[in-house]
Amino acid sequence: MDALRYRLPQERTLRTPLPGPRSQALTARRRVAVAAGVGSSVPVYAADADGGVLVDVDGNSLIDMGAGIAVNSVGASNPAVAQAVSEQAAHFAHTCFMVTPYEGYIEVAEALAALTPGTHDKRSVLFNSGAEAVENAVKVARLATGRNAVVCFDHAYHGRTNLTMALTAKAMPYKANFGPFAPEIYRMPMSYPFRDEAGLGGGESARRVISQIEKQIGADTVAAMIIEPIQGEGGFIVPAAGFLPALVEWARSNGVVFIADEVQTGFARTGAWFASEDEAIVPDIITMAKGIAGGLPLAAITGRAELLDAVHPGGLGGTYGGNPIACAAALAAIESMRQLDLPGRARQIGELAQRRLRALAAEVDVIGEVRGRGAMQAMEFVRPGGVEPDPDITKAIAAQALEQGVIVLTCGTYGNVIRLVPPLVIGEELLGEALDVLDTIIRSLAGRNRG
Ligand SMILES: *Cc1c(COP(=O)(O)O)cnc(C)c1O
Repeated sequence: MDALRYRLPQERTLRTPLPGPRSQALTARRRVAVAAGVGSSVPVYAADADGGVLVDVDGNSLIDMGAGIAVNSVGASNPAVAQAVSEQAAHFAHTCFMVTPYEGYIEVAEALAALTPGTHDKRSVLFNSGAEAVENAVKVARLATGRNAVVCFDHAYHGRTNLTMALTAKAMPYKANFGPFAPEIYRMPMSYPFRDEAGLGGGESARRVISQIEKQIGADTVAAMIIEPIQGEGGFIVPAAGFLPALVEWARSNGVVFIADEVQTGFARTGAWFASEDEAIVPDIITMAKGIAGGLPLAAITGRAELLDAVHPGGLGGTYGGNPIACAAALAAIESMRQLDLPGRARQIGELAQRRLRALAAEVDVIGEVRGRGAMQAMEFVRPGGVEPDPDITKAIAAQALEQGVIVLTCGTYGNVIRLVPPLVIGEELLGEALDVLDTIIRSLAGRNRG
């Protein structure tokens, strides 16, 4: 990987035990001001961040393998983004595109049409969050088809609003006691090669889904099928080859809108602009957020012109959707992704991480599987000798990594997956150091397990 220029030293340095005194003081203030329902994976408060490091309020410099949940792809303080944001804020921070429109919104829509898979005519709408994008993709699909049912999958994560909670699979912490949920949502079995019966291919997994839809729902009542090409919160589950193309083909021949939720996988994360490209699928609608705008809150749906334009004027929108500062940030972030060839960097990160993690997995009996694509890599932890999920060792690894100055996130339906989603601008040395830290921790915990 070429050398990038950074503002902060790209090094792991610990000045205090973590969390340090200032972070602890903020935790005390937070307890009496911020609702308990908002969790934080890491009890360390940010003061600065650049490239692959996050500096906390106690002056500790941590390696960031989480990127604010796969958001800070171009870095948390990308200079081009910072400049675009301040220039736009100096002119107008808001007018509301539904009141007085502006060029930045159109430029983002043009960029999305060019970047997303497929050469068909496309239209886009901009929003503030991934959940809002998903909600609107479903709204469009229902209106355009005149149908109600929506098919989603085991292990899916689509957000925390009422409709997206219904689409999300996991009860704790996302859904438990927050119902009732939106109706007409049907959950189908996902292709999960590590946990499926041995040898179950993508085609067979898709036929299982199609048969259940036809028997239990009826194809002609299904408005949309929504799926993450690689599942994020559910455990970085990469479906068997052929699963997604077979679903797309079935959707197309049955008038069902195929929605790819690329909120986490999009914008160079997996080594392509979108994960859909890997199996050459062309979604009817694609939802985007997270990596899109250098950390600013922006989300989008891009889809077939005939679907999006079916909606009556005024049927889609929102006060802040496509905020001009967020649009300026997105245009700068996309330009940086191109200039720095972040899809290429994501592939290099993936190769380096996979090589290291697979070598480790061959020597310890607690890693059930190493999987992922590009800069979206994961290890699934199991009790030695089987496939029983081990959330305890997973938590212990994340906690020890933090103590040593490496931020890693967990995920998975069973809470037994460590995911690595660093900023795509992380340097090779720093990435290697984070992997060294994880390697040592995992070997020591695995050894203890066995003893
Ligand atoms: C994070 C995520 C969402 C929700 O995005 P928010 O911006 O948190 O609302 C939806 N879908 C996927 C795949 C995600 O990873």
